[in-house]
Amino acid sequence: MTIKEYEQIPIPVVEIFQSISGEGISAGNIVSFVRIAGCNLRCAWCDTKYSFNESGEGVQMMLPADIRKTLSGIGSNEIICTGGEPLEEGKSKRFLPVYLANFFKVRVETSGGSILYSEKELLNFGILRDQISYCMDIKCPGSKMDHKNLYNNIFELKKNDELKFVVINTEDLLFSLEIIEKYKSSLSGSGIALNFSPVFGSVDPDVIVDFLKENTKYFMDNSLWARLSLQLHKIVWPPDMRGV
Ligand code: SF4
Repeated sequence: MTIKEYEQIPIPVVEIFQSISGEGISAGNIVSFVRIAGCNLRCAWCDTKYSFNESGEGVQMMLPADIRKTLSGIGSNEIICTGGEPLEEGKSKRFLPVYLANFFKVRVETSGGSILYSEKELLNFGILRDQISYCMDIKCPGSKMDHKNLYNNIFELKKNDELKFVVINTEDLLFSLEIIEKYKSSLSGSGIALNFSPVFGSVDPDVIVDFLKENTKYFMDNSLWARLSLQLHKIVWPPDMRGV
């Protein structure tokens, strides 16, 4: 498929807006978000249930060229493609981030339950791997979706990508450590951020800070970049406010 052909395929979009990046290493940057509709997971603590279905209330079918124009009109050069799940396989929406990467700096927030782009998929849209970055979840047991993790995705991550562990209890923290230990050889010295993010309103951030302090030696000895990641947008605005 050519880029021109792709531009004619409607994509289900929940919302497009400018805000601060709320999480991870880009937190605090002014960015534009494209929230793509539809998700094949159902995390117990999901805070964007309104993006579950491609035909849900408020979802608009938009042509990629129009999405690009809307983003250009907003003016940010940094785009976060989020969802829902942007990378669901077998769907046209999967290619919106690589299409947009021709025009903007694109970060993809993905559940970790869909396979990351192959080199061929990137090249089909004229994109090199360095032109796109991922913030990929590893689902912990508290999400009830840990069976959906595609762990081989970890081997595809590079510097400036991020893993995110959303944690709701101690079991989730211990699970995260187990996964990090298992994939340590890929993560060590890689420049991949390991974000620990508490479920808002369920875990006090100081629990994560204590956990990071307790494991500092392990992280340092293994050249692992572990960090607390809070959802800034839920601190700046009411936690359930949309479009921020
Ligand atoms: S992957 Fe994201 S959008 Fe999908 S259910 Fe989980 S938190 Fe919600």
